[in-house]
Parts: sequence; structure tokens; C-alpha cells
Amino acid sequence: MDPSDCPTQRIDLRSDTVTVPTERMRRAMYEAEVGDDVYGEDPTVNRLEETAAQILGKEAALFLCSGTMGNQVAVLTHVGRGDEVIVEQDAHVYYYEVGGIAGLAGAQVRTVRGCRGVPLADDVASAVRVQNVHFPRTKLLCLENTHNRAGGTVMTPQQTADLSAVAHARGVKVHLDGARLFNAAVALGVPAARLAAPVDSVQICLSKGLCCPAGSILGGAADFIAQARRQRKAVGGGLRQAGFLAAPGLIAMTEMVDRLAEDHARARALAGALADLPGVTIDLSTVQTNIVCFEVGDAARWVSRLAAAGVLSNAMGPRTVRLVTHKDIDDVALERAVDALRTVSKAAAATTANAPAGALER
Ligand SMILES: *Cc1c(COP(=O)(O)O)cnc(C)c1O
Repeated sequence: MDPSDCPTQRIDLRSDTVTVPTERMRRAMYEAEVGDDVYGEDPTVNRLEETAAQILGKEAALFLCSGTMGNQVAVLTHVGRGDEVIVEQDAHVYYYEVGGIAGLAGAQVRTVRGCRGVPLADDVASAVRVQNVHFPRTKLLCLENTHNRAGGTVMTPQQTADLSAVAHARGVKVHLDGARLFNAAVALGVPAARLAAPVDSVQICLSKGLCCPAGSILGGAADFIAQARRQRKAVGGGLRQAGFLAAPGLIAMTEMVDRLAEDHARARALAGALADLPGVTIDLSTVQTNIVCFEVGDAARWVSRLAAAGVLSNAMGPRTVRLVTHKDIDDVALERAVDALRTVSKAAAATTANAPAGALER
């Protein structure tokens, strides 16, 4: 049997979103005390939002269905139609959210280049519009930590503070897409609140490395969160007995953060093994958390060959393959993944050697 057909045999390194809830989470879901959260009466959601606000160092927090909903509700709350939002050119909120900034908020995007996902303060400063009858008003800067497409790279508290200061000095708000903010916090050895302190709003995902089945948190000032609650309702995100999701969310935030260090160590081990393989180019300095991106001749072919060997991965571009470590990948799975990578690297090298000139360029 093709091992990729068998879910128990498969090593799924496509994303940390594939993590399933722990036994403790399942029990907490079963036992959750619930009520109607649209009426503000779900005690477990209320407890999660209070806990999240505390952990993120913000006045208030809001529970949402997904990271995308958290980011888009934040944008909807910060900006109006025809306003402009500055984003790093590979930012998730711009690259992967179905054009929501335009389609939902009716705003437009101005991109700036980043180094490992972090824009230069000078580039942000010059991207902010001056007052002119021709121009949109710059209302929001979006930052991302860790940066997904850059390979899970972290933004330091200093970088976050500097970029936020540039925006704030010009009357521009700052939203932090912290889908993997706890990965950054663990990698840097700082509290998540410190990474969120300079920004006006922050979104974190409970459903990635933290293993919750669904859900995200948006944190910010009390009046901002009150407005965001209205926008969440407008996009259909007002859930009723959401305490069944908030219960594992509480466990995610309070018990699942420290173990992210294990995922980071396994990502480094994976990257180290990849660095030794022929036909693979990897910049080890980008492997800072649980994401490993590397370059090959033909990413799609690598992904399908890895799948045939029982390892699931993602092509992030024509030459870029991404692997993500997470709670359901232990050392045994890691070793098997490394074996599969060696096998595929050999096969790829053989293909390259035997291919007629130009056959691989497409
Ligand atoms: C996954 C992710 C999101 C979106 O989260 P979903 O829950 O999948 O909607 C947003 N931003 C970043 C950086 C992400 O990696």
C-alpha cells in the first residue's frame, strides 16, 4: 500500500494546523460550562477572553473562529473604505486571506519589502501618505510575528517597538498578526505580552502549534475590542455555546506554550539533516522556530515524491518546500522524515543526472 494513503503511517509536516487536541483538551470540551456567547453569557468564553487579555498584556480580548477572521475583523475595525493599509509584501493578511482587505474592508494595500518578514522602519515611514487631495489616508500598519512565508522567522521586541513608533508618530495604528506569536516568544525567551506591547491590536491562533481544534484571539484596548465584537458579528463570527471551543483554548494558552521549544529543536534537527543533502539549499539562519523552508530544483516533484514516501509537505513556490514541526511529530516520526528526505534527494539527483538538457526547466 502507498504509505501516503494510510493516515496512521503518514508523517504530516504540512503545517502545525494539523495538530489534534490533547486528551486534556477533549475532556475540557466535554465538561465545559457554556452559555450563549452572543449574549455574553458563556462563562468559559468570558474566562478565555480575560485570560488572553492578561497573557497578551491588553485591556480586552475577543475569541474568533480563525486567524483569518481575527486579522480581517481587526482590519475592518481599524480602517474605512478607501483607506490604505501598509503590509510587508509576503504578509499572510495580504497574501493568504482572499483579498479580504479589499473585499471586506474596502481598503487598499501598500506593500513594503521585508528582510525575513521585517520591513525597514525607513520604508514604512516613506510608505505613509502625506495629506494630499489625491491620496488615500494611511490608517494601519500590519506586522507579522513569526513570519510565515519568511520561514517562521521572529521579530524582536526592539524591531516591533521601532516600527510601531514610526507608525504611531504618523497617526497610523499597528496590527500584529501573531498567529504564531508564542513561537516567537519561546524562541526569544520573552513574554508574548512584551512582543504585543507596542501594537494596538494583536491576533494569535490557538489552533496551530497550541493544538486547539479551532479559534483565535484578538487583543487590544477595551473600546477597540467592543467595536471588533460588532465586526465579528457582521462577518458571521458570533457563536453561541462557544465555550466548547474556549475550554481547550484555555489549555492551549496556559499549558501548551512551553512545549513549543520541542518543536523548534526538531525543526533545527530537520534543517541540519537537510543541509547535508545534495540538491538542497537551506539557509539555517532562517530556521528560528518550527518552520523549515528549503530550496530544490522542482518543489512540486519533491512534494509528490515525499508524499509517496509517507511524508506530507507543502510547496511554497516553484523551488521552495516547507516542513512544519508540531506536537504530533515525535523523534521517531522525525527520523522517518529524515530518511524520506534522503531517499527523495537521491531520486532527485538521479533525475537531474539523467534528464536531457532543459527538461527540468518548466
Ligand atoms: C495561519 C495563519 C493565519 C490564519 O489563520 P487561520 O486560522 O488559518 O485562518 C494568519 N496569519 C498567519 C501568519 C498564519 O500563519
